[in-house]
Amino acid sequence: MNLIRRKSEKYLFYEALERRLPSNHYYLDTIQQNLRKERGGYTGELRVDRELHETRHYEEYKVLRNLFVGSNQSYCQIDTLVIHQHFILIIEVKNIPGFLTYDEVTHQLTRQRDNGPVEGMGDPKSQIKRSERFVRNFLTKYKLSIPVHGMIVLSNPTSILAEPFKDCPAVHVSGLYETMENLHQLYTEHQNPPNFDTRKIQRLFQQHEPIIPPYRPTHIPITIFKDIQTGVLCSNCGKNKLDYKSKSWRCSHCKFKSESAHLEALNEFSILFSREITTVEWMNFSGLKSLATTRRVLNESNLEKNGGNKNRKWIIHRISKS
Ligand SMILES: [Zn+2]
Repeated sequence: MNLIRRKSEKYLFYEALERRLPSNHYYLDTIQQNLRKERGGYTGELRVDRELHETRHYEEYKVLRNLFVGSNQSYCQIDTLVIHQHFILIIEVKNIPGFLTYDEVTHQLTRQRDNGPVEGMGDPKSQIKRSERFVRNFLTKYKLSIPVHGMIVLSNPTSILAEPFKDCPAVHVSGLYETMENLHQLYTEHQNPPNFDTRKIQRLFQQHEPIIPPYRPTHIPITIFKDIQTGVLCSNCGKNKLDYKSKSWRCSHCKFKSESAHLEALNEFSILFSREITTVEWMNFSGLKSLATTRRVLNESNLEKNGGNKNRKWIIHRISKS
């Protein structure tokens, strides 16, 4: 499921919200700021993916991305998990531009940009140590004693780390190649390094990935959800609502025409509200005029059905976008 890098739930959430809030909405600026941060993080992760791909032993790895480890109640999210026959490496990608200082006593990371104010950031060291604990516990549960390493990778070219973290490697993305070489060197010098079945371990992590409910931020005023623009929106000219005529969605503004534009709207509904939708909910959201047409459109959308005709709910499987 996570062999390719997908956008995080948070990223998808802000993207859908930005698209569906009216252009003059008072909260749009905040959403766009959050979206920029998520976009930066995602770009950084892709940069790390590219660098990792260029390392000498890449073909020997199984790599899992945005992986959840733990249970449905208590879990951690890992940006990149590298599985090698001798070891496992957890990579935590940080896209934080500016001058970074870490206090080992208070576990506080601060950053300063262009002589601006000093800002407190999340603690990447505690985060990676926590991820290591989750991965070790997971492996112990399946009686695997494979060595686990953790590493912070700074993906932003303008990040400057004042001092290295103690007991926790942190490198710039440009130093990833060499760091991976050093890691392999450790096991080359080892007389009898352990040999694990990478495919089996990869499958184990994937099969036991906890199911996490959709992202719901707590800091966003709940009232903005009532301002969300409904309808199937035009992907060509922006936020114009499409009309459904003769089995096609049509834009009165730019003349765009599509038979499948509603799939994106269903996707956004699942991100913003719920993965399940009733026929009436979809009729209200899409703006379709008749129940029969609504049902037909849903029937042709390849959705999973839950329940009989009367109380039917449709389960929206996400369109994967990378
Ligand atoms: Zn249009």
